[in-house]
Amino acid sequence: MSVVLTANNLTRHYSVSRGLFKGSAVVQALNGVSFELQAGKTLAVVGESGCGKSTLARALTLIEQPSAGSLQIDGVEVAGASKAERKQLRRDVQMVFQSPYASLNPRQKIGDQLAEPLLINTSLSKAERRERVQKMMEQVGLRPEHYQRYPHMFSGGQRQRIALARAMMLQPKVLVADEPTSALDVSIQAQVLNLFMDLQQQFNTAYVFISHNLAVVRHVADDVLVMYLGRPAEIGPKDDLYAKPLHPYTQALLSATPTLRPDPEKPKLRIVGELPNPLNPPSGCAFHKRCPYATERCAGEVPPLRAVDTRQVACHYAEQFL
Ligand code: SF4
Repeated sequence: MSVVLTANNLTRHYSVSRGLFKGSAVVQALNGVSFELQAGKTLAVVGESGCGKSTLARALTLIEQPSAGSLQIDGVEVAGASKAERKQLRRDVQMVFQSPYASLNPRQKIGDQLAEPLLINTSLSKAERRERVQKMMEQVGLRPEHYQRYPHMFSGGQRQRIALARAMMLQPKVLVADEPTSALDVSIQAQVLNLFMDLQQQFNTAYVFISHNLAVVRHVADDVLVMYLGRPAEIGPKDDLYAKPLHPYTQALLSATPTLRPDPEKPKLRIVGELPNPLNPPSGCAFHKRCPYATERCAGEVPPLRAVDTRQVACHYAEQFL
């Protein structure tokens, strides 16, 4: 299977003003994120808000340039891409947002909105575009008469189907979905997730699925990347990570996730306190002020991301959780 997305030490820092006479500070929104993603596979990126998920999404969709590190999409190094390559890359990577209503034009008929990517990027005739749109509408569970309707005439779930259809019109290599179901009713979420999975199978698209909820990504992910304050805490195969989380932050996120059959043997770990201010992150391990296992070493030494068992984990004591 081919690798379509490679991030190597991807980093994004922002310089922000601290106010009059106080100079500027650097926010390390993204720090040293590396992974490979194959066609047809899903990487879920999980963490609390402010952990760097959205910054990662913006870097992967070329909205923002990384401060350091490299990003390869389908074998093309983004930083050195020519104008023509960048144009192709923008077709190859598409995004679905949390609020589909915000990404749809309220004054344009759905059929025309779905045809737009084809109009801009292909030489298909009007009839061919219409045929492709109607086929995609059918694939996402919309009826032919919906072609002439406007976004406000649809439910939230239908609008997310439309947004997904629009993102898939050009059959992208990579789809980045930023909390795509968190604004939907719980009853609708499963249907939309299933649709994501169906389309992935049909088009062999690689997904980066961003969520704050480990329960949601459990059904869609092949690999999971857990982020904390801009850094990877743990990354590895989904089944291993859910069965035996090695980073205390992953353990805490999983403890907070409701399950149908809770395991009484598994100790519950609660995250205490707030996510630290990214302008003034804690020394050493960024999680140490909230971690029940923290030692003096944790406060003084940044744990490197390293291979432990089947995963990469940034914790000095990951082995003790094996
Ligand atoms: Fe907790 Fe220390 Fe591991 Fe950080 S390095 S997660 S503080 S045990």
